Amino acid sequence: MLGLEAWWALSQRNEAVTHIDVSMANLSRSLAQHAEDTFEMAELALTGLSDALASNGKTPEFYANLTKSLRNQVAVSPRLAGLFVYGPDGSWLASSVPQMPTNANNSDRVYFRHHQANNDDRLYIGDPVQSRSSGQWIITLTRRISNPDGSFGGVILASINARFFADFYRAFDVGRGGAVTLFSTDGTILSRSPFSDGFVGMNRAETELFRIYLPNAPAGSYTYTSALDSIERVSGYTRGKRYPLLVVAAVSRSEALALWREAFALRTGTVLIFVLSLTWLGFRLAAQIARRQEAEERLKHLASTDALTELANRRSFDSTLQSEWSRAAREGGPLSLLLIDVDHFKLFNDGYGHQAGDLALQEVGRQTRRAARRPADLAARYGGEELAIILPHTDAQGAAQVAEFVRSGVEGLGMPHSQNRPSGVVTVSIGCATIRPPRDNPNMTHSALVSMADRALYEAKLGGRNRVVVSKQLMALSTPEHA
Ligand code: GH3
Ligand code: MG
Ligand code: MG
Repeated sequence: MLGLEAWWALSQRNEAVTHIDVSMANLSRSLAQHAEDTFEMAELALTGLSDALASNGKTPEFYANLTKSLRNQVAVSPRLAGLFVYGPDGSWLASSVPQMPTNANNSDRVYFRHHQANNDDRLYIGDPVQSRSSGQWIITLTRRISNPDGSFGGVILASINARFFADFYRAFDVGRGGAVTLFSTDGTILSRSPFSDGFVGMNRAETELFRIYLPNAPAGSYTYTSALDSIERVSGYTRGKRYPLLVVAAVSRSEALALWREAFALRTGTVLIFVLSLTWLGFRLAAQIARRQEAEERLKHLASTDALTELANRRSFDSTLQSEWSRAAREGGPLSLLLIDVDHFKLFNDGYGHQAGDLALQEVGRQTRRAARRPADLAARYGGEELAIILPHTDAQGAAQVAEFVRSGVEGLGMPHSQNRPSGVVTVSIGCATIRPPRDNPNMTHSALVSMADRALYEAKLGGRNRVVVSKQLMALSTPEHA
């Protein structure tokens, strides 16, 4: 679920980034168009001016009329900041400025020197300069005035206020961390929104935009970290088709992804809470099941175990004997049973106390369990001081061996029992019985095996105790030829 959520969030994010890329590319395209239209207007004004200068005698009267006309032209066009005519010496011949400064001279301007040195009448777009007439940053578009003989006759200039673009760009929502910048293709900032005088004229030719992106494609989008304010931006750029200009529209990446981030946080939070609750519930459930299983195991153990000796109890003995009997009948193998009885145990209790009797019984139980070696063997407490071992797949000889192991083992423990003569230690008598249960005799049940073992035990007691007696009767029965 978390993986799915992560995948979803990532794809949403990619979608958001793509959307931003596209809208920035679109914005830069339309703003580049706007910049070109503005430049075109200024160029048209220069063309008209150039024609007027070529077709008229340059009298003071002509320049007075021209000044009036230039003022009217600039007054109706908010895009144009000013129109100027400079003589070959740099003096002002006519301009749209309301108050013509006296003795002003523009021969030191870069564009002026350019036209002085270059004998062509192509449009020249210069670096932004601070206007002598208004003090504001202006973008200059200039052309050379050539005399009929081809000599230098001055310069005509149309200026656009850098703020004009910035004011226009402000109308587009690029967020608080966004920016729209108008560049000349040599990397000079012509205008920028948000506007600051400090940015205008700055050269950014060393940035990736001019080194990598622009040489590769005239329009596109890219992500960069601004050196001006260190904000990471997603931006789209478009280069002008007719003029050497470039518009870059950019939004702050983190701001642009804020909506996505909010949705992501909300969703992820919800999913995390859900998954954690589910995990917690799962663990609780698993723990509960484990506890329950443990309790069941304990109960099962308690229900089938004798508390004092830790051997199987009578109930367990009965059901095991019955199932082993059926199995032996099915498979046709021998089944043996040992009945073990502590000798003179009443006297032991009388002499040493009931508690010592319990301890002795536990020791005998331990020895009995040690004798039940195979996985199917079952050592059990039959009742009182009588124990038993069920030995599946064991013939009479094997059963006698196991019985002898128990008998000698108990005697070897050397637990004092002075009343038990002649050994003087705790001993047991054991009756062994072995039968191959017949397959098709429903009258014969496992109780037959018990009574045979019981009879053998009785014989062992009569015979002097501390001994093993193997049931003769069962020997006969257990031999396949006699069965
Ligand atoms: P025999 O050699 O003939 O078996 O003599 P016995 O005294 O062992 O035989 P009897 O069956 O007369 O006595 C069995 C005694 O075992 C009676 C009882 O006090 C004792 N006994 C039975 N179960 C327990 C027990 O759980 N703890 C203790 N301490 N004694 C037990
Ligand atoms: Mg007894
Ligand atoms: Mg006894």
